Amino acid sequence: MYDIIVVGGGPAGLTAGLYTSRRTLSTLIIAKDLGGQMASTTDIENYPGFENVISGFELASKMKKQAEKFGAKFILGDVSKIEKKENGNFLVHYNNNKEEAQAIILAFGLTPRNLDVPGEQEFKGKGVTYCANCDAPLYKNKIVAVVGGGNSALDAADYLSKIASKVYLIHRRDQFRGEEVVVKEIVGNKKIEILYDSAITEIKGDRLVKGMTVKNLKTEQIKEVPVNGVFIEVGRKASTEFLEGVVGLNEKKEVVVDYNGITNTPGIFACGDITNVSHKQIAIATGEGVKAALSAYMYLLRKRGQSIPGMDWGKKV
Ligand code: NAP
Repeated sequence: MYDIIVVGGGPAGLTAGLYTSRRTLSTLIIAKDLGGQMASTTDIENYPGFENVISGFELASKMKKQAEKFGAKFILGDVSKIEKKENGNFLVHYNNNKEEAQAIILAFGLTPRNLDVPGEQEFKGKGVTYCANCDAPLYKNKIVAVVGGGNSALDAADYLSKIASKVYLIHRRDQFRGEEVVVKEIVGNKKIEILYDSAITEIKGDRLVKGMTVKNLKTEQIKEVPVNGVFIEVGRKASTEFLEGVVGLNEKKEVVVDYNGITNTPGIFACGDITNVSHKQIAIATGEGVKAALSAYMYLLRKRGQSIPGMDWGKKV
């Protein structure tokens, strides 16, 4: 039995675990992987305090180590169900196990969105991938395509251009969504050919990916392009089906929290990209993780009839 179970091991979850542990609450972090989306980012340039780039995996490892230093326990697991018990505690089911806690912090981020074109499912893991940081080294001196126009696609194209012989960046509009400073680098990168107003309509191959069909959405012109790999970076979605009826979700299926990370279910808190908080950024996720952790701490003190220490951000929990 734990005081707190944190579901998710990205910046929000690891920070929440650090803060609950430092409040001497027994804390278990259950996560599918270490670092979440952050771990798939090669060079992080906008996390305060790290003036020189740090890799997402390194930052995640540092955050995990810091949480563990204060007693948080970290295990790998895929949470499939959260159940409220009659005594007010929660049972968290993962893989073939379950653990009990008095409060829950949801911090499991978003999952990659599919492109939904013919060939995508067939060649998943055989040339179609959703993680440049994990799979780029397999494409040394090969030709690859990156799909998307947000920060993830731009980062992936930039990283792949250092490994592959050529990178096609395929975006359905003529304007990118990502940060201007990265756009500038991509546009000036001779190894990257940008196909604006374009969409992949099919991914082809035999055992492995060999090519793709690309359509210009303005001219309707179609061309066959040989590639060895297709990196899909078209955003992320909330996979919260198992939380239906457990906590309030919005129309995007994100967990709805107030400004203190409190959900509409007493004892369940949430933080990071899985919530309705806008701007999915590492620095925001860590801050939201702190808020959810302190809200959970105050909830447990109140539940146990203990006095609440003075907090500078209000008494509502
Ligand atoms: P995103 O910002 O939502 O961008 C998704 C991109 O995919 C958009 O350009 C979108 O096109 C395109 N797209 C969506 N569905 C598509 C489809 N079916 N076919 C073709 N293209 C499609 O997602 P993201 O890049 O994964 O970033 C997620 C969040 O993490 C963002 O808030 C981002 O800023 C943040 N992030 C930040 C950093 C950083 O700060 N360095 C790095 C990575 C991610 P449209 O533009 O036409 O909608």
